[in-house]
Parts: sequence; structure tokens; C-alpha cells
Amino acid sequence: AGAEETRALTDGFHLVIDALKLNGIETIYGVPGIPITDLGRLAQAQGMRVISFRHEQNAGNAAAIAGYLTQKPGVCLTVSAPGFLNGLTALANATTNCFPMILISGSSEREIVDLQQGDYEEMDQLAIAKPLCKAAFRVLHAEDIGIAVARAIRAAVSGRPGGVYLDLPAKLFAQVMDAEAGQASLVKVVDPAPRQLPAPDAVARALDVLKGAKRPLIILGKGAAYAQADAAIRALIETTGIPYLPMSMAKGLLPDDHPQSAGAARSMVLKDADVVLLLGARLNWLLSHGKGKQWGAPGTKRFIQVDIEPREMDSNVEIAAPLVGDMASCVEALLKGVKAGWTPPPADWTGAIRDKVAGNVAKMAPKLEGNSAPMNFHTALGALKRIIAERPEAMLVNEGANTLDFARAIIDMSRPRKRLDVGTWGLMGIGMGAAIAAAVETGNPVLAVEGDSAFGFSGMEIETICRYSLPVCVVVFNNNGIYRGTDTDPTGRDPGTTVFVKGSRYDKMIEAFGGHGVNATTPDEMTRAVNAAMDSGRPTLINAVIDEGAGTESGRIGNLNPQSALAKK
Ligand code: ADP
Ligand code: MG
Repeated sequence: AGAEETRALTDGFHLVIDALKLNGIETIYGVPGIPITDLGRLAQAQGMRVISFRHEQNAGNAAAIAGYLTQKPGVCLTVSAPGFLNGLTALANATTNCFPMILISGSSEREIVDLQQGDYEEMDQLAIAKPLCKAAFRVLHAEDIGIAVARAIRAAVSGRPGGVYLDLPAKLFAQVMDAEAGQASLVKVVDPAPRQLPAPDAVARALDVLKGAKRPLIILGKGAAYAQADAAIRALIETTGIPYLPMSMAKGLLPDDHPQSAGAARSMVLKDADVVLLLGARLNWLLSHGKGKQWGAPGTKRFIQVDIEPREMDSNVEIAAPLVGDMASCVEALLKGVKAGWTPPPADWTGAIRDKVAGNVAKMAPKLEGNSAPMNFHTALGALKRIIAERPEAMLVNEGANTLDFARAIIDMSRPRKRLDVGTWGLMGIGMGAAIAAAVETGNPVLAVEGDSAFGFSGMEIETICRYSLPVCVVVFNNNGIYRGTDTDPTGRDPGTTVFVKGSRYDKMIEAFGGHGVNATTPDEMTRAVNAAMDSGRPTLINAVIDEGAGTESGRIGNLNPQSALAKK
């Protein structure tokens, strides 16, 4: 035997796994296939958790949510070309939502791709990924794997978090090198998301504007939730006495029934506030770009914006006091300034908001009761609201049109980062990926409240849920279609374009995989089934029969739907 055989060796497969593990990444979400099948097998053998999905987009959505929940990049592993493209949608979505994620994709041989000679699943993946994510890297030599993984991690989590693409051509995995040199080539990233302290003059300016307010408002976004600065944010809100409005994924940062929550007085506070402090929330379409009639008379608002991304400032309207830095550092600086001297907001402002909230909550309450069949959105969600109130640790996943809009308004959250939804794009299809990541990353029971249409985009992953025995209870709000189940084809030839098979039994799908299926026609039946699922942790799918006429077109965002003036009404 020559020296070659006695010397310890490593290869590309092992170096990728070692580099991830060295940086505390213990889970891979993906779909196996050429050329990364063995990477998944070996990662599992080395003690990593490898969650194999049925479609890459769902694996990618899971990785993105893992990143959101843990502040470590969630990793999604895909095969070349088509698998890569499926995962890329999730990577773009992660980037849009500021969630840290790394899409690792196998790819075909550079020599053939670059000469466009027609390789198996040939595609110039790096070039395609680049405009859709924060950073994209390709590794050609095994000795560069360590540095590439380090760069990917840093790019994903530092500054404004986002998606990173890592291109690993098939040949890389089998490249062999000396084990000791391989070990030495790995990089453990020191301080991957460094604090970014706000400048003292920017803090002073922000405090100045805040102190000048007569009708102040704080808006909490998912950037505030992501930052895990929960105690500081709560202290700032409670010390100042300023009313706050949570964006959907920031619900629970403070409990929704907190006396300062203006959640149920949203229209009023957006219109009437004079100074708005944005904490990790963008003035994008979800906030009507900070202008227009929702925001009251033009020129009546001053904005203070806390964000880690300097270019976010003035993106839609003038920001009077930009405060650039990481959430914890910025909020702590503001809190220090407030403690040095502060007059609480006028009682007529806070009192008027509390009255509005109480009035709206009282108006909603009776709609949430009742036990008749079929259910409507209110009676069904009233039941789920009571369940979540009793189970504050539960993770809530929510998508759909009406199912999303009503659930966001009806189901109170009381703990941070427990609500996962369609995010900045309003992306349908996040459901099962988010539910799986929530279960894997937290171990807590998961309740996924899904419109029947939204569920369809990721529904096959109930097999994944059953295979890994994850504590996920899916409730499909079945109203026979998209928005409603009442559309018809005016020509009489086909079903209406937005309807599905009437009376579908989604519960039977999960039985095919050994899960528990329940058909629920009343809130009481549904309550019993959800509680049993949450207690047992057994994968469960509840087909919740909802009145097919109950929804509205496009839910709350019908205004975004262009209408033909020529169509017959
Ligand atoms: P929402 O949809 O809930 O309003 P957005 O996704 O629009 O929230 O906004 C989140 C913002 O938070 C982004 O502009 C992002 O740059 C910012 N952000 C993310 N992480 C941090 C952090 N650690 N510190 C400060 N800002 C952050
Ligand atoms: Mg529907």
C-alpha cells in the first residue's frame, strides 16, 4: 500500500457538511436527486437533521422560516436546473421578506454549461440566481468550500438579512484532499451579524421628533420580531405609553390584548397619528406606501424609522428621523433617552384609541360565537381564537385570502414569533413549508390555518409531515374555491375559474399517509379535533366545511384587482 492509502482524506461532500456543522447549522431542508443525493445521506449519517420534501419550493419556504425563527440561515438543498428553479422562488421570497436563507444547489459541469453543449439539467444557475438574492457564489475547488460557506452565512445574516445562493457543481463533491488540510480550510464565522450602533446625533434627532408628538404611534414589523429584541421593545412601548400597531408577523411581540395595542383601531391611528415610529416595518404596499387617504391629510405625518438598511429610508415618503442600526441597539438608545425625560402622550389620544378598540372588539365578539353548520369565517375562527388563547406556545401558520385576512384580525397572539404567514409578497404556498419548519425548529405544536386554495400549493407535504411524525394540525377552510365557491362559467361549458370540486374531503388525503383526518361541519366538532391533535401531536388534517358564499373577492385587497370596465356585471 502506498502513502496515498494510509493518509487520511476528505472530500467535497464531507467538507460541505463539516463547514455547515462548524457554524452551528444542524438542519437541511431539501429534495434529493442528482448530484446531491449522497450529500443528504452523508449529512444525515453525520448527525444533521435532513428533512426531505416532495417539492423544492416547500423545502425552500421551510428554510426561510427556519432562518426567521433562529437568526441562522436556513439551508435548502436542491438538484440542478428544475430543482434549482423551484427552490429559487423560495429564495427570492426569503430575500423579499428579509429572512436569512442559503439555497445550496448542485449544478452541471462548467465546461459543458459554458459552451452550452447540452449537459444533463444544464443551466447557468449562478447567473440566474444573482438578481434574485442578496449574494451568489460558486465553488470550483474543495479547498474553497470553507470560505464559501463562511461568505454565504455572513451575507445571509449580516445587515438586512436575505437569501444567498451557493452553486456547487457535481464534480466538486467527489474532489478529494488531505483531511488535515481540509479541516484547516474551514472557517467558523466570528460575529456573523455584528451589532450596528446608531449614531448619537441620529438618536437625538429621533427623540426630538418623538417628544414633539401629540398623537404618537409605534408600528412594529417583522424586522422587529426577527431581531429578538423583545424585552427592549416592550420596555420602550410601556415606558413611553405610546400606542402601537403590529404588522401581521409582529403580532404577539406584545400580547394583542395589551392595553396599548391599537390593532383594532388601525384605520383610526393611521389616519390621525402625527408622529409614527416604524420599528422594522417598511412603508410598502402593506402600509399603503405611507401616503394616501388611509394616512389622513397630506403633510400631517412625521416618520421616525428604525431599520438596519440605510437605503430603506425615504423609499416612499420623507423620513424626518432615520435611525439606522440593529433593532436592539436602536431601541435601547431610544429607551435611554426616554428614561432621561419623557411626558406620556396626551390622554385624549390614548383614551380615544382605547375606546375605539373596545368598541370594535365588542362589535366583533358576537360574530365569533355560534355552532351552526356550515361554518362561516367568523364562527370557525372564533373557535380557533379560543384554542390559541389557551395554547400560547402553539405556532400558528396562516395563508389564504379571506382565511388570512379574517384570521389575522380575529386570532390574538400573545408571544413573539408565533405567527407565520404569507409575508411581504402575500405568497400563497408557504403553508406546509412554514408548518414543517415551525415544528422542526421549535418542537412546539403547530396549527396551520389554510384556505383550500392556498393549501393546494403545498398540500403534498402532508406526506412529509406524516413521514417525520411532526406535531402539525392542518385546518383547511373549505369553501369550495378561491375567495368563494360560487363562480360559474357563463358559457356553461366548464366549472367557474375560481371553484374547486364541491364538497371535497381534504381530510381523506392525510389518511393515505397514516395521519388522522377529520371532517368538521361545526365549530364544536372542529374544536374537539384541533384540541385532540394539539394534545397528541399526531399529524392531523381537518376539513372545515365553510359556507361557499361566505368570502369576498380577494379578501381585503380587492382594490389591487384590476377590473374590466367592459365586462358585463
Ligand atoms: P412588515 O412586513 O412586518 O412590515 P417588513 O418586512 O416590511 O416588515 O420590514 C422589515 C424591516 O426590518 C426591513 O426593512 C429590514 O431591513 C428590517 N430589519 C430586519 N432585521 C433587522 C434588525 N435586526 N434590526 C433592524 N432592522 C431590521
Ligand atoms: Mg377557499
